[in-house]
Amino acid sequence: MKNAILVNYEYCTGCHTCEVACQKHLGLEPGKYGIKLTQIGPDQISERKWQYEFVPVPTDRCNLCAERAEAGKLPMCVQHCQAGCMELGPVAELAAKMGDGGKYALFA
Ligand code: SF4
Ligand code: SF4
Repeated sequence: MKNAILVNYEYCTGCHTCEVACQKHLGLEPGKYGIKLTQIGPDQISERKWQYEFVPVPTDRCNLCAERAEAGKLPMCVQHCQAGCMELGPVAELAAKMGDGGKYALFA
């Protein structure tokens, strides 16, 4: 079954740790990424509502840490996210978690 990474970005603090952990894991030079933090806002949506989010997005360099998965280890980004808002798992299983009204992004 195909795996994916689910990000519950409601809880992402924008700390960049996933970016750095991945860069180190892939041996990338500064400015190159296996996962890149993106920012939405701060954006005033309505009189009382602002949107300000961080969402890490895997790049085409990401192979979901396949070699680590084979060894029974978590992906480096998932392991180092102190907010615990990233998860690796089967696509269907992760997609099923997305209907609870939270803010999710699924990368397969
Ligand atoms: S799964 Fe591995 S390769 Fe993909 S973004 Fe996370 S650390 Fe980088
Ligand atoms: S490590 Fe976790 S909390 Fe920090 S930027 Fe990445 S996803 Fe967000």
